[in-house]
Amino acid sequence: MTPRWPPLPRRLPRTPAPLRHETYESYLARLAAANSLSFDDLDEIAHLYDDDLDGLDQLAALTGYLATVLRHAIPELFHHQAAGTTALDGTSPTPREFINDIRPPCRRCAASAGADPGTARVWAAHDACVCVRHQLWIGEGNDQPSHQLDLGSHPDIVHAQIRHQRIVRSRGRPAARDAFNAARGLWLTMSTTPGYSSQREARTARVRAQASAEEAVSNAVTYPETVAFTAILASPHWRAIVLSRKPADNQRFHHEFRRRVATGHQENGYPRSLFVLDPPRPRTRPRRHRRHRAIPPAYPAPPGPLATASRPATSPGRLAEMPHDQRDKPHAQSSAQSEARR
Ligand SMILES: [Zn+2]
Repeated sequence: MTPRWPPLPRRLPRTPAPLRHETYESYLARLAAANSLSFDDLDEIAHLYDDDLDGLDQLAALTGYLATVLRHAIPELFHHQAAGTTALDGTSPTPREFINDIRPPCRRCAASAGADPGTARVWAAHDACVCVRHQLWIGEGNDQPSHQLDLGSHPDIVHAQIRHQRIVRSRGRPAARDAFNAARGLWLTMSTTPGYSSQREARTARVRAQASAEEAVSNAVTYPETVAFTAILASPHWRAIVLSRKPADNQRFHHEFRRRVATGHQENGYPRSLFVLDPPRPRTRPRRHRRHRAIPPAYPAPPGPLATASRPATSPGRLAEMPHDQRDKPHAQSSAQSEARR
């Protein structure tokens, strides 16, 4: 048997367990600190490169944990291009910042694992909003452990987390994420408009009594309705109805919205929701340059018998005064108004 080269390192004296979905950098930093090593020295030993997973064996030898355990705990290892596990979506958040967030872990989960929640960091998918076990807010706005709102007296917010994960399981994470992002943007705006704000304000007052983390409070108090709206938008059946132009479907959507999201919803109380949810428009061919509409001479016109004649609204002199992007669109304002009504 050929001896391994380079040889595996010896196990470190202190080997904290990785947190669930902990970032590779966070775990290596904790491991280095626990053994009074520098991060760079430990990184050199583990040497996780882009094109091979030798570093995983090194890390397993350093910590004494099975490579499988490390791979399922640390998303950078699970989704490593040499790991062959990237197709197993749903069990580990993709370690890409434009898809998922890096946040502090639940402070009580971290404490029970012996980690400092002030320095440890985990990858958080869009549906990681509440630690159900400890009833703490760990979603958007959780920039530091003190922002993790205690939701012990808010079972509606905690239960929304369970419903949210049910949507992820039934629709898939990408579809659920798209629906959640749309629902959150819409409901954040709608819930501050007159007629919709009383429920939000009452819940905000109750949550804010214990914390002042603005972003965390804002996201937590709107979470139950956002998840209820997400369930509608993630459903192919209701999505088709939402996007339909038929008045009957429009009414069905508003009725469902009133039943599942906001009981005080007015059928035409917030028509912009339909506008925002409009499907992407088909691409149109770029406008061709129209030679016969060459830019006319600038106003004032040259002296002559026509200089004092009254000009129509779209006369050449008037066109010269208009912005370039409106010269070919004499009815631009009316078009924009009709579009906003859709
Ligand atoms: Zn927890």
